[in-house]
Amino acid sequence: MVVELVCVGTEILLGNIVNTNAAYLSEKCANLGLSLYYQTVVGDNEERMTTAIATAIDRSDIVILCGGLGPTKDDMTKEITARVMGRELVEDPHTRERIQAFMDNYIKSQPESKITANNWKQALIPQGAAVLDNHNGTAPGLIIESGGKTAILLPGPPNELKPMFEEAVYPYLRKKQPEIIYSEMVKICGIGESKVETDISDLIAAQTNPTIATYAKTAEVHIRVTAKAASEKEAKQLIKPVVRELKLRFGKNIYTTDENKSLEEAVVELLRAQHLRLTTVESCTGGALSARIVNVPGASDVLKQGFVTYSNSAKKKFIMVKKSTLKTHGAVSSKCAKEMAKGGNFTTGSDVAVSVTGIAGPDGGTPEKPVGTVFIACCLKGETKVREFHFNGNRSKIREQSVVNALILLRDCILENFKK
Ligand code: ATP
Ligand code: MG
Repeated sequence: MVVELVCVGTEILLGNIVNTNAAYLSEKCANLGLSLYYQTVVGDNEERMTTAIATAIDRSDIVILCGGLGPTKDDMTKEITARVMGRELVEDPHTRERIQAFMDNYIKSQPESKITANNWKQALIPQGAAVLDNHNGTAPGLIIESGGKTAILLPGPPNELKPMFEEAVYPYLRKKQPEIIYSEMVKICGIGESKVETDISDLIAAQTNPTIATYAKTAEVHIRVTAKAASEKEAKQLIKPVVRELKLRFGKNIYTTDENKSLEEAVVELLRAQHLRLTTVESCTGGALSARIVNVPGASDVLKQGFVTYSNSAKKKFIMVKKSTLKTHGAVSSKCAKEMAKGGNFTTGSDVAVSVTGIAGPDGGTPEKPVGTVFIACCLKGETKVREFHFNGNRSKIREQSVVNALILLRDCILENFKK
């Protein structure tokens, strides 16, 4: 079943508002297994709206329209769709009552407001249309079916559109499209995208249902396994052997199969499970690493302290980096990173410390240590591991890669400790 989206509003065309409704509705349609081939944004202009709506209805089975259902003159979605589908507008007594009740209630909290004549425009519906009650505003949603085509009209404000979609439109579409799409996400860290793709090229070549798609993230690769089936249970059965195979191939590099879990959440879970208290010691990331960890609710269970020791003097004063190390090897060196991690643990009494020192650029690079050179160290119970990186990209990209790789090194060290 082919579905198409038409979002109405000059303010979207001008960039005054971001078309979040389109992102929301597209994702929902994908989950429902509907094929969405076109999205249109059209301004509040009668002629262009007529063309956009007529074209959409002509080439798709279902057209979802959002916006332009308000009481004012420039809200024309309902009027134009009704005309295109050959329907008269008639007053819907139920909607008139609901608008009356909604406005009465509104007027109680805003005594200076009153119902204006144009509010009743919203009680007009295309003849034969199904009405979707709006619990958060006055404009009703509408479903018009005609000649095998369906138009679904939704109000523009997301706080009205989303609840209406969940309550009425999702179940309606679910019935029309009995097959669902279900997917799971296998999240991998510490292996590059090209290696991941090569390692699963046979699976990708053989894929039909489920399908496999890889997404490269910063220092991570996510593999989405998607199945089409009559029920979620059936889809899960289809997905299971593929995920099992991926687990066999990528082993400990998989940090989760939960779509919503982030790398830092996985790391915080590991720390908590092993009762480890963490200290972060950051230079070029300037606190971004500890901020990522603090993003996780309950981080206080595991994060003892975070240092941002940007200057050499701070490195010496707070985390015991040796003057001679700075002089002989420099602040961006394997030795300095190691001392930062060790010093972090020592001064705070934590079990594990992770440190980052590097050159984020755009200045400060040398032929021996070009921009992008970053050392990351992790000291866990007296044992220190250090990794050297040469990242590409601008300052923020280098810092972001540093943070993710610090999380990865930390995770590797905890997993190794676990084995002992
Ligand atoms: P109203 O009764 O508020 O006029 P409406 O159905 O006529 O509702 P619009 O006038 O098109 O909808 O939009 C009202 C508001 O809803 C916009 O100012 C904007 O804040 C939000 N909105 C509209 N369309 C979108 C969209 N596609 N994505 C995100 N927000 C939107
Ligand atoms: Mg409007």
